[in-house]
This record gives sequence, structure tokens and C-alpha cells, in this order.
Amino acid sequence: MELSVHDVKKWVGREESFAVAAETLPDLAARLEAPLRGPIKAAGRVRNAGSLLLVELEGSVLLQMACARCGSLADIPVTFSDMAQFREERPGPEDDWFAYENETLRLDDWVSDEILLSVPIAPLCRTDCRGLCPQCGADWNESACACAPPPDDRWGALAGFRAHGDDAD
Ligand SMILES: [Zn+2]
Ligand SMILES: [Zn+2]
Repeated sequence: MELSVHDVKKWVGREESFAVAAETLPDLAARLEAPLRGPIKAAGRVRNAGSLLLVELEGSVLLQMACARCGSLADIPVTFSDMAQFREERPGPEDDWFAYENETLRLDDWVSDEILLSVPIAPLCRTDCRGLCPQCGADWNESACACAPPPDDRWGALAGFRAHGDDAD
């Protein structure tokens, strides 16, 4: 993913919007456990702020992941947004901006990091996924099962409290 800043560099204050896409990014597949299910898309704005370029970026990609409730594979949308600075000098260890040269911003490392940071820990195949029965493993999205509902400790505690109250009468 590359972004030409030839025009935006013409004067301070100049701003441009952009959109980029890529099938994958170098090293991303090795760092990501989930397969990509479509292109990586990113769009944003780049602004010439004098000694640096300010870039705002929003992006999205679909990842194939197992639902945290029912275990079925689903295409999970992953979105990200961030801002960064690009400068034509090498960053030191304390600097948190990216270097660029030849009027070209390379967005690969930034976008890869954003995707990795945005992968959901507990993805759901759909927001109302009912999950699996903990007793027989039936997929509650497809059908109910005959298992007795698990005992609910809150009601057990309430029953004990009521019984104790009856004894005091
Ligand atoms: Zn599910
Ligand atoms: Zn069951």
C-alpha cells in the first residue's frame, strides 16, 4: 500500500483524500492467525503540515474466524482507524512517526499493525448467536435440545432464604 504525496507536498496546508487497497500485506499472513476473506481497504486524508505530513486513516477487512459462542467459521469484519505522522528523516528510538522518501508513503507496516490490534478476542458469527448447549453440544442456532436447563444458583440461594424465613415464623 503506497500513497504518492507529490501533489500534497507542493505547499504547506494542502490536503488530499485517498483510498488504497491490497490483497494482502507483506508479513501480515505470518502474524495473523485468521485468513483474509477479501481485500484490505483503507481510506483517509493526508495533510501537509510543513516539516511533516499528517495522515488520518480508516480501514477494514474481513477475517475468517471461529465464533466464540458456537464455533462455526464466519467472516468477521475488522475495522480500524488511526492517525500518524510521516517525516523525511529517520526516526530515533523514542520517535513514534514513520519515515518516508521519494514522495511516497508506505502504509504496509502501519496498516498491518492496525489490523493485528483490531482483531476481536471473542468474535461472534452474529450478534444474537445462541451458542452451543453446554451439556449435549447442540447448536442452539439450529434447534433447541432436550437437556434440562442448568441449575441457577441465584434461585437456589433465594429458596434457602425463604425456607429459613418460614422456620422463624
Ligand atoms: Zn456463533
Ligand atoms: Zn443440550
